[in-house]
Amino acid sequence: MDKAGFSARVLEWFDLHGRKDLPWQINPTPYRVWISEVMLQQTQVATVIPYFERFMASYPDVAALAGAELDAVLHHWSGLGYYARARNLHKAALKIVAEYGGRFPDVFADVLALPGVGRSTAGAILALSGNQRHAILDGNVKRVLARQHAVEGWPGAGAVADKLWLLAEKHTPDKRVAEYTQAMMDIGATLCKRTAPLCVDCPIAIYCRAHAMGRESDYPGRKPKKKKPLRQTQMLLVCSNDEIYLERRPATGIWGGLWSFPELESGGNVADWCQERLRLLPLRVERWQLIRHSFTHFDLDIQPIAVRTQGASSRVADSDERVWYNLCTPPQLGMAAPVSNLIQQLKEQEEHVQNG
Ligand code: SF4
Repeated sequence: MDKAGFSARVLEWFDLHGRKDLPWQINPTPYRVWISEVMLQQTQVATVIPYFERFMASYPDVAALAGAELDAVLHHWSGLGYYARARNLHKAALKIVAEYGGRFPDVFADVLALPGVGRSTAGAILALSGNQRHAILDGNVKRVLARQHAVEGWPGAGAVADKLWLLAEKHTPDKRVAEYTQAMMDIGATLCKRTAPLCVDCPIAIYCRAHAMGRESDYPGRKPKKKKPLRQTQMLLVCSNDEIYLERRPATGIWGGLWSFPELESGGNVADWCQERLRLLPLRVERWQLIRHSFTHFDLDIQPIAVRTQGASSRVADSDERVWYNLCTPPQLGMAAPVSNLIQQLKEQEEHVQNG
């Protein structure tokens, strides 16, 4: 792909179809572009326009913003969300007044050092307001470039972002940088949409690898799913005659308020637990196969330990918090699926023993 051909097509398209009358494109001072770029970071253009206009009416320049009360600035932001953006704007305005006498800096490193300004925003401010040659890589441009070059992987990953930044740098022309920058953002927002991109209208479709493969929706790669943490527990399935000992779980936490088997802490001794808690002696202890149960935020490995006991006459009595659950005449109790499955297994084992 030739660099000149790519940017020439982008610019040609901009001349015909690009957006040229957004409020911040009229008199695009660094201050106005900065405010618009920060507002646009997490918000759609149509939502931003009235906020931008109200903001400019109240704070037409850096000095006005720096002189405002933070509460008033936040009030102008009400409804836009991500309020750290407004706090950073105010902080940055104070810094510009203190360090640059109120004049918005025009050196990339200085702009990048302002609170709330990242590499792409700094590039966009200087490119759009001063035609300085800097690449940008906002969400829209990431999508266009990932598809153009079939860049595998999630752009949030460092190595993938590095690749995209190199491509963004490579494509940025030496002239008409402001228009090129706006055009790439517009192509991303209006043609190279997340779903159903309008490739037939795209000026750079001839270069697009994802389009050639018919795999537009595979790029950019999705964020990898985080592996859920794994917790472990041991559950005691204590049987005495035809009954199983259950406890009610605390009202909060997993399976809150449901009935379940008591848990044995790691390193705990089954015989001691039975004697101390139930005044029973274990006759036989069997570790069953591990069960994995998935919760939204973690997986739980349950080690069931079946314990057959003797000494039923002296065992602890039922209460609101504990019960001897009779397998032959089961009471109706709320319990989680893994618990009722284990009870079912115990029941089958019991029947098997009794039948022979
Ligand atoms: S051809 Fe389609 S997928 Fe490729 S950049 Fe253009 S709109 Fe996006």
